[in-house]
Amino acid sequence: MAKKYLIETFGCQMNVHDSERMAGLLDQAGYEATTEDTDADVIVINTCSVREHAEEKLYTRLGELRVLQDETGRDPVVAVAGCVAQQEGESLLAKSNGHVIDVIMGTQRLKMLPALVEKAARSPFAEVDINPWDDVTFPLGLARRSDPVKAYVTIIEGCNDHCAFCVVPYTRGHERMRTKADILADVRDAVDSGRREIQLLGQIVNHYQAPDDPAGDFADLLAAVNDVAGVERIRFASPHPRHTGTRLIEAVRDLPKVCKHMHLPVQSGSSRILKAMRRRYTRERYLELVAQIRETIPGVTLSTDMIVGFPGESAGDFEETLSLTEAAQYHSMFSFKYSVRPNTLASRRLPDDVSEAEKTARIVALQSLQREIQTRLHERAVGTTVDVLIDSAGRRRDAEISGRTSGNTVVNCPVPGLGIRDSGFDGSGFVGSSPESRLPNPDAWIGRTIPVLIRRAGPHSVWGEAVISGVRGQQGRC
Ligand code: SF4
Repeated sequence: MAKKYLIETFGCQMNVHDSERMAGLLDQAGYEATTEDTDADVIVINTCSVREHAEEKLYTRLGELRVLQDETGRDPVVAVAGCVAQQEGESLLAKSNGHVIDVIMGTQRLKMLPALVEKAARSPFAEVDINPWDDVTFPLGLARRSDPVKAYVTIIEGCNDHCAFCVVPYTRGHERMRTKADILADVRDAVDSGRREIQLLGQIVNHYQAPDDPAGDFADLLAAVNDVAGVERIRFASPHPRHTGTRLIEAVRDLPKVCKHMHLPVQSGSSRILKAMRRRYTRERYLELVAQIRETIPGVTLSTDMIVGFPGESAGDFEETLSLTEAAQYHSMFSFKYSVRPNTLASRRLPDDVSEAEKTARIVALQSLQREIQTRLHERAVGTTVDVLIDSAGRRRDAEISGRTSGNTVVNCPVPGLGIRDSGFDGSGFVGSSPESRLPNPDAWIGRTIPVLIRRAGPHSVWGEAVISGVRGQQGRC
């Protein structure tokens, strides 16, 4: 009987995709996936260290696995991968206080996973491999993609920017680009396996320069992905504001498959704090960029990342974060309280001098403002009809499906009772009357794009009805 593996993932989209790659490697080595830790012969914990809280989750989970081992008498190979593994290396063995960990594998060593697991299974000692490795190739078609609709495609690994708060350059290494040929092959493979949406990933995606096409920048790459038959939507995360210029903005406007949404991490609304963070743009420059994007791409939506309580952030600096948030009108925001990350410039040079109580008060105020803005923006969409790529079924209710608009708004609607359209809404309702086009099963709608008339708005998503004959609605975007 084949041995079984379980992969648990913390953190960002990049980590999710690394887990998909590790799953593919273990499949190829003859293992089978399981969802139960009591059943697994190999448990991989793919860790995140961007926030202190994410790192703590690893230690909690290792404690649970130790209890599980004591209770069941089973002794699976436990591998810790990802950013905490890279950051802590061998010291994780001491920090986790026991014999739970068998493999510690750095972020650049993914391809070694099956070999390290095999070695650890035969040895009383832990295998530790956190060596740097510049190779960014990965066997085509091996990743076990977990999402039926969207496919992550990494274009850049690592980062050279060293923003003062950020641990990524220390955990994921220096910036390395994949070749354009490899990226496009990955995109075609994703489409061949039924994925409709491509999400290009990198720490600074718009820093991309194709190693196999010296004149090829990120806008060129977007155009090339746009030309791949079968791709329906393209997203990317994240561009850096200081590399976002007219060429990229116009590419987002002009390429029909590129979603009209940009995630533009700002981190603070105060130029003084942005300087201390080493972000290399000012509040004024960022707001000019927002204005240019809005002027160039009609109906575009924006989202961002924000940190409160960075060292030295005064009440006045935080007020500037609030006023920038109001000015930018983000459709969504990831906001965090600053926490000291090991090795970073801020950890070495800047005292963590904003009290925990003040950080909490600031994040509550920021999130409350952002919630109001989102609700307002969503309410504006009520009465419009938007195209929704359905990506899940029955998250809350059995007879409900949900998906996202081009602008990345989550839309929920009841499973439609009539036929569906795959493309070319003609304004008169759904086309197609074959038995196959009448789909009572919510899962059968996943991967389809349907027009939805928005009826109701909340802060995090909107609700509507799939458009059928006779329903009128103005074409909108959210
Ligand atoms: S650009 Fe800054 S925040 Fe983004 S990964 Fe690089 S160092 Fe971190």
